[in-house]
Parts: sequence; C-alpha cells; structure tokens
Amino acid sequence: MKFGGSSVASAERMREVADLILSFPEERPVVMLSAMGKTTNKLLMAGEKAVGCGTTNVSELDELSFVKELHLGTLDQLGLDRSIIYGLLDELEQLLKGIAMMKELTLRTRDYLVSFGECMSTRIFTALLNKIGVKARQYDTFDLGFITTDDFTNVDILEATYPAVAKRLHGDWINDPAIPIVTGFLGKGWRSGAITTLGRGGSDLTATTIGKALGLREIQVWKDVDGVLTCDRNIHPKAKPVPYFTFDEAAELAYFGAQVLHPQSMRPAREGDVPVKVKNSYNRRAPGTLITKERDMSKTVLTSIVLKSNITMLDIVSTRMLGQYGFLAKVFSIFEDLGISVDCVATSEVSISLTLDPSKLWSCELVQLKNVWASIYSLLISFSCQ
Ligand code: ASP
Ligand code: MG
Repeated sequence: MKFGGSSVASAERMREVADLILSFPEERPVVMLSAMGKTTNKLLMAGEKAVGCGTTNVSELDELSFVKELHLGTLDQLGLDRSIIYGLLDELEQLLKGIAMMKELTLRTRDYLVSFGECMSTRIFTALLNKIGVKARQYDTFDLGFITTDDFTNVDILEATYPAVAKRLHGDWINDPAIPIVTGFLGKGWRSGAITTLGRGGSDLTATTIGKALGLREIQVWKDVDGVLTCDRNIHPKAKPVPYFTFDEAAELAYFGAQVLHPQSMRPAREGDVPVKVKNSYNRRAPGTLITKERDMSKTVLTSIVLKSNITMLDIVSTRMLGQYGFLAKVFSIFEDLGISVDCVATSEVSISLTLDPSKLWSCELVQLKNVWASIYSLLISFSCQ
C-alpha cells in the first residue's frame, strides 16, 4: 500500500491512513510512504538558499523552519514524542550548514538532503501505529537492500535489490511480525554507498519494486481521486475514472506526462506480473483503476490521446534521402551520440519529423540543438556524394 505526500500531509491525514490500513484487517500490507506534503520541495529550496546564505544564517531559513514546524507539530498533534525525529533534524541542519560552508549543492548532496522527508514521515507514522496498538517497524530503503546506480537524483534500481529486499522483509516478519513502514523514493548507490533518489515522484517505483520482490498479490497506490481519470480535471471537470489499463498503456501515458504514476514504475509490476490498483483514500469503496498485463481490447479503437506542451520539434526534409538506405539509422545515431532522447517519430521518403523532450536535453538546449543541426547537415551532404 503506497501513500503519496498529500495522503500523509498532516496529523489528520496520517490518522486517516492508519484508519484505512486498519479497515482491511484481512490484509498484511507493506506500507510505503512519501515525504509529508510539500517537504521535498521545501528541502530542495532550503538547499539552494543555503548555497548563498552563509553558515550563520542557515537556522533562520524559512524552509528549514517550515520543515521543522510541520514535523514537530504533527508529532504534537498525534501525541507522540518529539524526540523521534530530533536526531534527523539535527543532522539536516548540519547538512545545510555544510552546504553553506561549501557554497555548493552537488547532486549527491541533493539526494541526501531530500531523503530527510521520507525518513521523517515513516518514523512518525510508525510511532503512530505502534501507539494505537498496531505493531509496525520502520525501514529506510537505503538500508533495506535497495541498490541503485550512482546517477544521483535519477537512479535506476539494480537487480540485486529484489532478493535482498525479499530476504530482509521475510526474515524480519518470521522473527517478529510487524507491519513494515518503508520510505519511498530512496536507495543506496552501489559504488558510492551514498543515499540516492529515484527521481521526482519515484515512490511509485519503490512500491512496484517491493511488490515484485515479494511476489505480492496486488500493489495499491492510494491517491485522492477515484483512480486514473479520463482527463486532468483542471482541463475537463467531468473527467471520469478509467476502470482498466494495461501496464503498457499506463507506462506510455506516464512517460508522455499524464500525472498518473512514475513512468518507470510499471516495469517491475509487469515483470513480476503483479496487478497495480490505483485507489482513492477519500472514497475507499470506489473500485479505482486496475492495471494489469492484458485487458479486453476487442472493442477498443483508440485508448488515449496525450497533450504535451513545450516540446521541441525537428523537421528534416530533403530529397537527398530519396531512395537511400541507412539514412534513418544514421540520423538516430546522431541522437545517440549526443545523448538526446527522441519521443515521437514520423517519416516519409523525403522527410523525418521528430519531437524531443526539452526536459531530457541534458545540457543547454540551444547548444545541443546546434550540434544536432551540424551533424544532420553534414549527414545530408555526405549522402549527396554517395
Ligand atoms: N517525495 C518525493 C517527491 O516529492 C517522492 C514521491 O513523492 O514520490 O518527488
Ligand atoms: Mg510527492
């Protein structure tokens, strides 16, 4: 059962999540949480401000005060001991002072910085469950066996994760059964040994990874809408929930920007063949959306339309490619060499149109595009000489 940031944004919402878990007494869930509400954004902002604010001003940063007050206030309202997170808050302040001293926020430090959000939300929630008599145990995924690449802020999960996580969670359950409360979003770099993150919104991927690792019956992603909707309600207020999706459809939609699930998160679910259910924590009885490997497509003509703004489109039109072979291969090897991801492609005999996602152009976009043009231009010239 995965609960995102808004589901655990306050003491009241945490109580509701606890109540929701208890309303399914027949289940023995692994519970996975994001950071509370806006915490991840605030931590990132605090880090950016710390770079230029000087060590003595760190404790006065608004974002740090916000994070402290939110978490300590939540503990107070839940009648829990503040000391549960004292150690983490101290460490966080030290880290921000370190950033202020170095006047630098590296990607590695950024991951360490945002990890405090998930570390705190899960500790508070575990204490809440234990207080109301439900035995729970907190886990930081970077100590649970989540092994990742070292591309800080956007890592991939390595295969070794699955057996490691399964062994640890099974072993602990057998020795001393308690509901595991796990941090979303975090892992441990296999070379660096440092805390890593799976990219924004990455806790969906943590959830499906655990689902596959343990071979669970179902992965539940709890949101505040009745499942995946036919459209963003800000665009069309009458959008309705979609009852069924395949993993492929969900992955494609997520990749093209629908705010449904993390784009990578369908892969473990598909590989482990574990159905994913998107449910509404405000409307528990609603069926939600069920995402599985296959669905009845016999009456389906068109499954979805995606609207994406701010894309870069490239049109390559030249009669020089007429009747040639290997032209497409060469064009795409340019993108490979430049490390640029292509979204959509349409071709005819004398033209290629493609779209590039600017968020994935890794350095300054203009420099990149100039490189693309230069390479494609020389390619066209070379084809005319053959
Ligand atoms: N807390 C992280 C974020 O806000 C991860 C997540 O919520 O999935 O991106
Ligand atoms: Mg979030």
